[in-house]
Amino acid sequence: MRTLVPVYYPSFRCIASACRHTCCAGWEIGVDEFSRERYLEYSGPLRGELKEWMRDDGEGGWVFRLREDGRCPFLREDGLCRIILEMGEGALCDICADHPRWRNFFSDREEMGLGLTCEEAARVVLNEKRKAVMITLSDDGEEEPLSGDEEAFFAFRDRALGILWDREIPLARRLEKLEEEGLALRTGEVSRWRERLLSLERLDENWAAALEKTESPGENAGEAGEKDLPLEQAAVYFVMRHLSAALEDGLVRERCALAVLLTRLLRALARDGDIAEWARMLSSEIEYSDENVPAILEWIRADEEAGAH
Ligand code: SF4
Repeated sequence: MRTLVPVYYPSFRCIASACRHTCCAGWEIGVDEFSRERYLEYSGPLRGELKEWMRDDGEGGWVFRLREDGRCPFLREDGLCRIILEMGEGALCDICADHPRWRNFFSDREEMGLGLTCEEAARVVLNEKRKAVMITLSDDGEEEPLSGDEEAFFAFRDRALGILWDREIPLARRLEKLEEEGLALRTGEVSRWRERLLSLERLDENWAAALEKTESPGENAGEAGEKDLPLEQAAVYFVMRHLSAALEDGLVRERCALAVLLTRLLRALARDGDIAEWARMLSSEIEYSDENVPAILEWIRADEEAGAH
């Protein structure tokens, strides 16, 4: 089995105390069984607190409860982790050690990338100048053949990536080509989506204010711009991260449309300000939500059935 990562992956390092949007706050932190046992056996200074803050999640697993202010109880005010400081980096539970990585599994490979919800990952992904091709991180020499469905999937995805990497034409045209060539269902102008997106669950009220200001592209929308390169990186990221679930649900053109829609939304948001910060917010609000992605896929499908575009 090979593990493949985008070419920018080795550049990523968590910036810990320098992070303005730490991932150690805002959601309960799942504790895997191996880590739980290690925490229960541990006899150092954090012993009492580790036991005190772990609780049953009601679904057969364990989590660290959050403090009243929504932060992990082991996160210090300076942004450093007390578990790392007291017990070493190897003592982190899987979810903390792994974040912000995402993984997709196929018969012959694991694909891994960096989630845009992490501000440093967003900076690394969107600042990359090279095409975000996959490189081999490790290979144990054992390979299973691809299934027929997987072969068809990779052929589809290669076509989509080929269009997104065509730097001879503006990014806006590349997104249109995905629709014209039938790889992505049509989603129309971003402004059409404002009310729908505002109806979704959200983490940060600033997100609602940002959505209120999104407008349809102006008359120069089809021309290449300085944001084409980071937008290409974002579009490729959305395709790589979200398309493979189509092997389970069959929604390959809907998922490609999701990548197009999110890229157009990011373009509309990033007219002002730092595009990496907008990508972080968009990712946290939409693509890291177990509810919001299915809701958008459902709207895309319903629009197609209604012939809305
Ligand atoms: S969000 Fe990213 S940079 Fe910030 S603490 Fe988490 S992994 Fe580190």
